[in-house]
Amino acid sequence: MLKFLLRSDYQVMRLFAFSIFVLLFVYLSAPVFAQTADQIRGDSKRPIIDSKMSKKEVFDGLDPNCPPEIRRRQRIVKVKYYSFDDKIHQGQIVVDKDLVKDIKFVFEIALKEKFPIRSVIPIADERFRRNGRWDDDLSMAANNSSGFNYREKTGGGSLSNHAYGRAVDLNTFQNPYIKGANVLPPGAIYNPDAKGTFTKDNPIVKAFMQRGWTWGGDWTSPIDYQHFEKPLKPRK
Ligand SMILES: [Zn+2]
Repeated sequence: MLKFLLRSDYQVMRLFAFSIFVLLFVYLSAPVFAQTADQIRGDSKRPIIDSKMSKKEVFDGLDPNCPPEIRRRQRIVKVKYYSFDDKIHQGQIVVDKDLVKDIKFVFEIALKEKFPIRSVIPIADERFRRNGRWDDDLSMAANNSSGFNYREKTGGGSLSNHAYGRAVDLNTFQNPYIKGANVLPPGAIYNPDAKGTFTKDNPIVKAFMQRGWTWGGDWTSPIDYQHFEKPLKPRK
């Protein structure tokens, strides 16, 4: 009996030691596995997810003055893009339902051309809220790209085409809004040679033009390099 017990204790101890070894192995190797998982993320099959908001989240905090008929026309477009970290990311942009095809077309070209886009996250994201409301300044300062936002034009006066989901702002920091001494986002500098910057001969600008959009970089005052729009009534 004693012999049996001893033997059994020995087995228990062996089992215990083995368990400790397994736990230690799992614990120590976890960061290695995590790193491997990170390294394979960021391709077209497993893009880095910048935004995966639900419909409820995307429209939460919308200006209550937005007419329901405008709100109902808005669609969340899932887009993939090459970013400044040389990896492929996935985000979401909100536009009018008639412009979904245009947006997909332009983003496909940007991906093919490896034109870097910083991030594409709807403006309802917590990071771009001030007092619960959507804040374009916060989105611009974060170099974020976005579309629909029920708001007035920068500088005020009348509704922006963003209010109808008929305008998008891309790579705001490389492509600032400039009106006289007012540069938005603050501190941004327009350098045509910098990565992610729009110029007249840029394939993304050309793709928008091909689809009948207007580029704010063609305007004189303000010059709005980040801005592309396709109003219901085209500008004269
Ligand atoms: Zn804009």
